[in-house]
Amino acid sequence: METAEAAGRALIGGEWQAEPDGRTFTVFDPATGAAIAEVADGGAELTGRAVDAAAAALPGWRALAAHERAGLMRRAADELTARAASIGATMTAEQGKPLAEATAEVLSGAEHLLWAAEETRRLYGQTVPGATADNRIWLLPEPVGVVAGITPWNFPVSMITRKLGPALAAGCTVVLKPAELTPLSAIAVAEAFTAAGLPPGVFNLVPTARPALFAETVMADRRVRKVSFTGSTEVGRELIRRSAEDVKRLSVELGGHAPVLVFPDADPVAAAAAVARSKFLNAGQACTSPNRIFVHRDVAADFTAALARHAEAIEPGVDMGPLIDAAALAKVERHVEDALARGAKAVTGGRRIDGPGTFFPPTVLSGVTDDMLVCREETFGPVAPVIEFDAVDEVVARANATAYGLTAYVWTADLTRTLRVAEELEFGMVTVNGGPLAPPQAPFGGIKNSGYGREGGGLGVADYLDYKYLSVGLG
Ligand code: NAD
Repeated sequence: METAEAAGRALIGGEWQAEPDGRTFTVFDPATGAAIAEVADGGAELTGRAVDAAAAALPGWRALAAHERAGLMRRAADELTARAASIGATMTAEQGKPLAEATAEVLSGAEHLLWAAEETRRLYGQTVPGATADNRIWLLPEPVGVVAGITPWNFPVSMITRKLGPALAAGCTVVLKPAELTPLSAIAVAEAFTAAGLPPGVFNLVPTARPALFAETVMADRRVRKVSFTGSTEVGRELIRRSAEDVKRLSVELGGHAPVLVFPDADPVAAAAAVARSKFLNAGQACTSPNRIFVHRDVAADFTAALARHAEAIEPGVDMGPLIDAAALAKVERHVEDALARGAKAVTGGRRIDGPGTFFPPTVLSGVTDDMLVCREETFGPVAPVIEFDAVDEVVARANATAYGLTAYVWTADLTRTLRVAEELEFGMVTVNGGPLAPPQAPFGGIKNSGYGREGGGLGVADYLDYKYLSVGLG
């Protein structure tokens, strides 16, 4: 919940500021289509001020003792935890996910911050054997500097804390631009950090409906040394191009097209329960969402029936929210219509729900083939396409036949198969038999067109560090 002071504003150098020319943009509730807030539409000047504030705060923040930085981050995590229900309600209003999911996301964001806070104490360097008897060599970890973060709307809080945690732990200061569809959750996160006593300028927030202008401004500013982006591959590519001019460091967490491989030795009912959880979470609007569900013919009937039972038990509007907007709904409809026209069958769901809001029911498609749109593009909706397979030897190649490489899910009781398949899958993350995907200690991230860089774990913090090589002659 926003205070009156923070309402719809940018946070710059510890002050809540409006856009200098008074420009705002409107935030909508996707469940009703109603306008719910006006938010400052930050332009080049406001973004520049945010970079000024981050640059001014950098020397003090990086110079703090590790336990002092960790203490402030822990306090921010406590504030997020205490406000989880109210921030969750804000998220539900602007993003549409059910309150329980939204509140859990805030609590998980706090966990990520806590983990990163602890990592502050382990920013070790290295001592390397010298080149001669009187030479000493050290590697000294140093923060990259001012970081610009750009986050998507699908996880409006956790995508922010996944960047803030490691950046702040490393000693960087941050200018963050949230998605224009979900700025209110971001403002609520910034309020929690302010209440925790984070020094002014360490975390600056610039809401804007002009993302390209924000990107242009931070890319052109030499004080910004790294850009960390989560969003579509298309925008990621553009940022990679633009980063070349000033040779900025980048982390890009992009789209996914996750395969699921259910082998004949797996328990199809347990697999279906887990696939339903990850597929229908956030109405399927997740980069890790299972998109191509390859199920061996021997277990396909049991798997599909169980998946349909789970899908039918979900009540849209209660257990699952709407899609984020009309364009998202239209894309899901187009994918399902294409699949049905090419011979797939809707075991359950398949047609949008009439009425206000952008609701699409949990849908299970059977008889899906690799040429259908659902198998070629990221659907970003609650559609589970089941593809039966016979040839165990060929299914990994089919799973790899995508430009993306974020997540793959495997179900098997065979250890040899687990290891062979995991090695052959071209994805940054492989989870077997329901292993959790995004705990704070794990390095989340992709390969190929899903991007590069890792968020979480020690590798996540390393992404915000430079290692200075120091060579000293004693002679
Ligand atoms: P998007 O790329 O349209 O937007 C993401 C962010 O980029 C938003 O903040 C947006 O304002 C900003 N943006 C848009 N145009 C920009 C431009 N020209 N320059 C700079 N910034 C710009 O993506 P989306 O539709 O909001 O999010 C969904 C996508 O994000 C999906 O492809 C999904 O797979 C991906 N995603 C990836 C991960 C991951 O960790 N790999 C996590 C969540 C979402």
